[in-house]
Amino acid sequence: MNFINGKTKPLAIIGYPVGHSLSPLMHNIFFQFLGLNNVYIPLEIKPGHLQAAIEALWTLGFMGANITIPYKEEVIPLLPEISSEAELIGAVNTLVRKENGFRGHNTDGQGFLKALSIEKGWEPHGKKVVILGAGGSARAIGISLALKGAHKITIINRNLLRARGITEIVEKQIGVHGEIFGWNNPMLERVIREGDIIINTTPLGMNPNINEIPPLDTKWLSPSQLLVDLIYNPLETRLMKEAKAQGCQVSNGLGMLIYQGVLSFKLWTGQEPPLENIRETLEKYLNKV
Ligand code: NAP
Repeated sequence: MNFINGKTKPLAIIGYPVGHSLSPLMHNIFFQFLGLNNVYIPLEIKPGHLQAAIEALWTLGFMGANITIPYKEEVIPLLPEISSEAELIGAVNTLVRKENGFRGHNTDGQGFLKALSIEKGWEPHGKKVVILGAGGSARAIGISLALKGAHKITIINRNLLRARGITEIVEKQIGVHGEIFGWNNPMLERVIREGDIIINTTPLGMNPNINEIPPLDTKWLSPSQLLVDLIYNPLETRLMKEAKAQGCQVSNGLGMLIYQGVLSFKLWTGQEPPLENIRETLEKYLNKV
């Protein structure tokens, strides 16, 4: 067991709210296991105070941080440099302390891909991707899938302008074909049937609204498809249950949560965190709260 002392280097997650975050539990387990003298704390920063918070992290010697909703975009102008992937995605979820300030990275999309590769043996090259929703996580995932050689990125969303924002980057800056559809488009059935992977990035089905489901007919899904729901509370959403009944392989959002954290941890420490039992520990925690 490590004890906090004068040499302990702190890290934090900054967001509003952050009370629900599993990252402090996960990273503190990693630090304890590896015997590193670090501590990771949740910091709830009220809107309007982000700049002061980043300056305070720097002054107080924080080694790094995760940035979560609603600050992933707002933090960018406060940083001296960001990675090229974070630049393309337009959002930062990880800060790493450097000589002249914090460098911004985005590990969300890579974490999503690593989870599918390790847990499902799924690789993006040549695949037709269908993403439900066009928010921050859809953007990170869509751009990372395109960078890794996906054949086509199709976005289904209420707000078509937001969806277009993602496909424009995918097409113009990465050279991968992109399509957008509204939920009422008569082509929706064909688009869903054609996808190799269907990824729900909307909050529909998240606790406490566990009976909600994205507005598509799950009878369109088939056993050759992988259905991923970014939600992890509940661990199995209604969409996942219905997709399983159609014979699809399914996955929840815990893998993405774990592997975006693994990639952040490696950026901070240069070390590989221990992953034995981490999924079970997080599942047990989620079953209790
Ligand atoms: P976000 O930026 O707020 O985007 C949410 C998207 O969902 C938007 O495109 C929105 O559509 C759509 N949406 C919301 N309510 C809807 C409704 N009633 N009907 C149809 N579409 C609806 O959120 P985010 O950061 O991308 O996160 C989205 C989900 O992913 C959340 O459930 C979050 O918990 C989960 N997540 C999981 C992880 C993980 O590690 N597993 C990481 C990040 C996020 P409009 O654009 O039309 O408004």
